[in-house]
Amino acid sequence: MKIAFIGLGNMGGGMAANLIKAGHSVNAFDLAEAAIAKAVEQGCTAFPTVREAVEGVDAVVTMLPNGAIVDSVYSQDVIGHAPGSALLLDCSTIDVDTARKVTSAAEAAGYQMVDAPVSGGIAAAAGGTLTFMVGGSDEAFARAEPILSAMGKAVIHAGAAGAGQAAKICNNMLLGASMIATCETFAMAKKLGLDPQTFYDISSKASGQNWSMTSYCPLPGVGPQSPADNGYQGGFATALMLKDLTLAMAAAESAGAKVPMGARAAELYKAFADAGQGGMDFSAIIKTLE
Ligand code: NAD
Repeated sequence: MKIAFIGLGNMGGGMAANLIKAGHSVNAFDLAEAAIAKAVEQGCTAFPTVREAVEGVDAVVTMLPNGAIVDSVYSQDVIGHAPGSALLLDCSTIDVDTARKVTSAAEAAGYQMVDAPVSGGIAAAAGGTLTFMVGGSDEAFARAEPILSAMGKAVIHAGAAGAGQAAKICNNMLLGASMIATCETFAMAKKLGLDPQTFYDISSKASGQNWSMTSYCPLPGVGPQSPADNGYQGGFATALMLKDLTLAMAAAESAGAKVPMGARAAELYKAFADAGQGGMDFSAIIKTLE
């Protein structure tokens, strides 16, 4: 297929390279010259504008920073410029309301579109092992699945338009809250005189067990290898967790959902990012609790 890829940053660069590896040809556009240069090295063809990149393609994939940018790229340069037969796939993490609005505009113009945000970071994007959570019609999902499979290990249909974004922020709200709960529990266990490894051995086999503990333990030297063992570098940055929690709070308000734990997690991650720790892995929040 001929695929336009818009937004070839940390995530998009690796994803586009995997489309090339799968045999697709990729028309690349990004505002940053460095991103374009890297994409060309991977086999993509550079285009000077979005409109030229989407001309005559079978599909358009976007991986952009936020909802306002996604909205403007689709409304100004994709809708009405890509062929009506092109499938539109937005893989960015954005708010549910904007995802639904952009899909409605695309559908009104005759396109099929999915929102397909990802779980997994830069390494998973490069390795083609992302998990895609997809919102859209059955027909749009069936068309999107083979394209997304070239970039990921799992492609799951979450429901109608916006459901991919809803699944992503619900999952990450749970992750944010469970990471803080895990951090404060280990900090308290230590203060009560428990050896962290001993507490891990007990709780990882008891009812407190959770992913933040057993797959991503926030304490160095305890549990499997995690960013804690690497000075809290790499992994999932606090700034990105805060972005997702902020989207979750907006969605909760818009849906009238009560989320006291998610709201507290958002406050704590905001304070941690405001203290200059936005670049640290999100498990580093344990430092504020120890
Ligand atoms: P990034 O900043 O590295 O990449 C975004 C790219 O979009 C940049 O190269 C930028 O130049 C480009 N861009 C911005 N505005 C543009 C426009 N109008 N037209 C064309 N290009 C434009 O960000 P990233 O880490 O690749 O994240 C991309 C998306 O993936 C975000 O929505 C993020 O929340 C989501 N995400 C990131 C991670 C992660 O670990 N980095 C994990 C899951 C999801």
